[in-house]
Amino acid sequence: MGRKFFVGGNFKMNGTIKTIKDIAHNLSTAKLDPNTEVVVAPPSLYLLLAREHFAPSIEVAAQNVFDKPSGAFTGEISPQQLKDCNINWVVLGHSERRTILREDDDFVACKTKAALDAGVSVILCCGESLEEREKGVTVDVVTRQLAAVNKSIGKDGWKNVVIAYEPIWAIGTGKVATTEQAQEVHAAIRKWLADSVSPEVAEETRIIYGGSVTEKNCAELAKQPDVDGFLVGGASLKPACKCYLILLI
Ligand code: PEP
Repeated sequence: MGRKFFVGGNFKMNGTIKTIKDIAHNLSTAKLDPNTEVVVAPPSLYLLLAREHFAPSIEVAAQNVFDKPSGAFTGEISPQQLKDCNINWVVLGHSERRTILREDDDFVACKTKAALDAGVSVILCCGESLEEREKGVTVDVVTRQLAAVNKSIGKDGWKNVVIAYEPIWAIGTGKVATTEQAQEVHAAIRKWLADSVSPEVAEETRIIYGGSVTEKNCAELAKQPDVDGFLVGGASLKPACKCYLILLI
């Protein structure tokens, strides 16, 4: 069976009750392609509101989670609490958290394991900085980030993970990777999965692209054989963002 196309919307620290209800209304009444899985990630304060207002076929993701089930961890949310609220996905390893909040590969790996153990699926972000790309170490960086997770979750964990390749230099900058650049890294990630995890995991795992994806560039990116969808940041806040409808464009 082929890999189901996947589009995630990362609202980051944006949105209000009104804008989230507007996006929910537009997406829930839009004619989405049943062959595309859609997951939206609002700020944590609005997760329950989103779950209430988006159609049941659209999943809701948290933008972060802690690696413990409960306890004295002020300000954190556990994977078990997400499940309790019917939030079945979480975005982990986003470059904004890796750089601004100093999350390292091991912490991202621990959180991925904790989420999967609680039954929460993971959109796992990886990607290189501009400096790393210019040094020619893009694939080394991305596979190092993924290897830390592999050590923690093992071969069976990957079935509930979607990998989001997000070059840092393309996030929020308007500088989208070319279709060739995206395909090249996606193919390298798939090869790494085949060699380091298993050929089945490589075949089945969805690898989506993120970094200034818009309605204008998504159709070309989607044609690449190893691009299985997108993680859309800024453009996902438009109430009628067509990136979610990609297969219908
Ligand atoms: C993101 O936040 O994951 C992202 C890709 O942002 P943008 O689409 O705005 O570059």
